[in-house]
Amino acid sequence: MPSIHAIKAFTDNYIWCIADHGSKRALAVDPGQAEPLLAWLEAQELVLDTVLITHHHPDHTGGVGKLRQALPDLKVYGPAQSPFRDVDQPCAERDEVRWGAFRFEVLAVPGHTLDHIAYYCEETPEGEPLVFCGDTLFVCGCGRLFEGSPATMRQSLAKLAALPDTTRVYCTHEYTLANLAFARHILPQDTALAAFASHAEQRRADGLATVPTDIATERRLNPFLRWADPQVIAAAQNHPEPDDALKAGEADAVFAAIRLAKDRF
Ligand SMILES: [Zn+2]
Repeated sequence: MPSIHAIKAFTDNYIWCIADHGSKRALAVDPGQAEPLLAWLEAQELVLDTVLITHHHPDHTGGVGKLRQALPDLKVYGPAQSPFRDVDQPCAERDEVRWGAFRFEVLAVPGHTLDHIAYYCEETPEGEPLVFCGDTLFVCGCGRLFEGSPATMRQSLAKLAALPDTTRVYCTHEYTLANLAFARHILPQDTALAAFASHAEQRRADGLATVPTDIATERRLNPFLRWADPQVIAAAQNHPEPDDALKAGEADAVFAAIRLAKDRF
């Protein structure tokens, strides 16, 4: 059965890799660096034949050129409308990507960048659905708004939050402890967050990843998905100059205020 592995890159990136030892093939998501991935593939005796790109940032795409040199038959899927041009399988909302037994649906999730897409697989060989969501949804956090508006990002996060509860969420960075520090700062009474933070700290102390998370956990804990939660609305309204939309608890205004507070944290 295929298995999913985290290859570490830079300081806190994960290059997610699906390994199919039966066919000796592998798929990688967002290879920002080629070297750690090529070393891992060689050790595992696997041939990389497919890359999925979520968005154009160099820490997600920087390894593609070198991988193509090493693997001339490589297929690179990525957003059709993107500043990153080295894609030969352009993808847009609802397109399908097939790899072995995996059938991924492409979801447009702009906000962190405008070209951002995610790859959702409803039926995996292991049973639970999964999503490769790049820098959109993190464990108890979300990506910074480099290109999209708060409303655009909130819609994209709502799309991910609507996936089945058991969906495993493979994000690209190990930002969990920093995200939890912020979440606990704005929601000091949230005992579920405190319990989850102890669990995450223990995993990091043991040298383990805190990713993947799952959609049910994120809907319950992640302040960037809880724009309708009275606790989070109150935290957002604790803003020096709340406007009428924020005073009224409007979702986009709540989300924007929480994102701004995180940027300044
Ligand atoms: Zn990014």
